[in-house]
Amino acid sequence: MAEPVLSISGIEKTFHGESESCPALSGVSFDIAAEEIVCIMGPSGCGKSTLLRIIGGLEHADTGSIHGISGPTGEGASAAMIFQDHALFPWLSVEENIIYGLRLSAQKVPDIEVQRRVDALLSLIHLTSFARSLPHELSGGMKQRVSVARALAIRPSILLMDEPFSALDIFARGELEDEILRIRQELKTTILMVTHNPEEAVYIADRIIILSERPGVVAGIVTVPLPHPRSPADPDFIRIREEVAGRVKGKNVVRCGIQHE
Ligand code: ADP
Ligand code: MG
Repeated sequence: MAEPVLSISGIEKTFHGESESCPALSGVSFDIAAEEIVCIMGPSGCGKSTLLRIIGGLEHADTGSIHGISGPTGEGASAAMIFQDHALFPWLSVEENIIYGLRLSAQKVPDIEVQRRVDALLSLIHLTSFARSLPHELSGGMKQRVSVARALAIRPSILLMDEPFSALDIFARGELEDEILRIRQELKTTILMVTHNPEEAVYIADRIIILSERPGVVAGIVTVPLPHPRSPADPDFIRIREEVAGRVKGKNVVRCGIQHE
């Protein structure tokens, strides 16, 4: 494997309620190489979202370390997160939504560079003619493409995606998967993505990390050595998909006893 861009080591996390505690992650370690697409799978409630939130800096781990998240030109931490729900601002146009990500980041990007990046991203996601449209004028797949562009605007060293396509219909999902592969090709982006769909994981990933039931630990890693474009009808594809599906085991306990959003 090439030099890791991200090295995750011994991540543990327990949530504490008034009378009980909920161990979510118990010692998760793995590396991600530059330009790699890694998928995370595991039963519901095993801590996948918690792990991504920790890597993205939205949550603190109790112990463990994350090394290597830094901007391509050394501007500091740069992981960008995409959620299942596109989370665009309904009152901002497509273009303004993409710009918003840049304005929020600590990077000082001059206005002319902001416009240049936004134009390039609009063209990358094929939405140039929708620059002035509002989110409600777009399909679900288009909205999710805008959130991908918004995340890419800060030039993150890693893109973190939490079940980003699971609310989309099968056609939109297929398009977005191809889009992500194309973006990785063009922008050399490193991607860590949670999915519960073995077919999606085998279609897109270089490696698939399988977590055990809660508290999550790495239960296995499956490498997908197939060239792109991959065909879900290819016998090797089917064999790996079945292997992955068979290794995602354990109880789907969506929630522990602690109330949270
Ligand atoms: P997954 O994404 O794999 O379905 P999560 O990471 O969302 O799982 O949650 C893992 C476990 O941690 C679940 O049992 C969930 O109820 C619990 N949990 C997640 N966030 C919180 C929180 N903020 N407070 C208390 N418990 C939480
Ligand atoms: Mg989740």
